[in-house]
Amino acid sequence: MITQSTASIPVQLAAVRARILAAARDAGRPPDSVGLIAVSKHQGAEAVRAAWDAGQRAFGESYVQEALDKQAPLAELAIEWHFIGRIQANKTRPIAAHFDWVHGLADLGHARRLNDQRPAALAPLKVCLQVNTSGESSKGGVAPAAVADLLAACVALPRLQVMGLMTLPAPAADVRRQREPLRALRLLRDRLATPEHPLDCLSMGMSDDLEAAVLEGATLVRIGTAIFGARPYNDNAAH
Ligand SMILES: *Cc1c(COP(=O)(O)O)cnc(C)c1O
Repeated sequence: MITQSTASIPVQLAAVRARILAAARDAGRPPDSVGLIAVSKHQGAEAVRAAWDAGQRAFGESYVQEALDKQAPLAELAIEWHFIGRIQANKTRPIAAHFDWVHGLADLGHARRLNDQRPAALAPLKVCLQVNTSGESSKGGVAPAAVADLLAACVALPRLQVMGLMTLPAPAADVRRQREPLRALRLLRDRLATPEHPLDCLSMGMSDDLEAAVLEGATLVRIGTAIFGARPYNDNAAH
């Protein structure tokens, strides 16, 4: 893991919090209705600790082994860990044991494995179902038309707690175009929500589309670059 200076992290974290508050105000939403996941993939444990010291409690990781290596030296911190990467069947056991949330669940086989492998001593694993809202095959997620079936199967798994929906749209330059897939996720959620399963969580919004996401109802934004700076090495996976 490359060590970068962590001095700018509290400043950039404060700037991201200010962006969230401004967007919530513009959207007429309560300031505390948008949670922040600090995406620390490819950042070192010292960067996570710097953000923790500035009050950040939820962190997102995309790569299982990298996350486990980072969690070890941070074990005394009560961090809420979110797995936001692409799930591989042979990695579900450590995901089930070492994370509080999984975003990007898009496969019933993965859901069953996570359910079976969630340690009994832990609360049910919180999950968001990933929806492919931009029709781009590289982005992962289930097609909107397939979400209802996956949802029905997942809510029957007792060691999973379905919190809502997640999406990772293709990048778009202007806010109007950014909002289209984010709005699609919200409308899909509105159609699928029931009193038993309200799907309160909309996990959407990254450094470049945070404002669009808050305007469209995001309840958890996943922000990496705007907090930690550019990642020290490149991401070749879709996420
Ligand atoms: C990397 C990543 C993010 C954060 O992206 P930034 O543009 O650095 O804010 C958010 N969500 C997912 C799924 C990611 O893989």
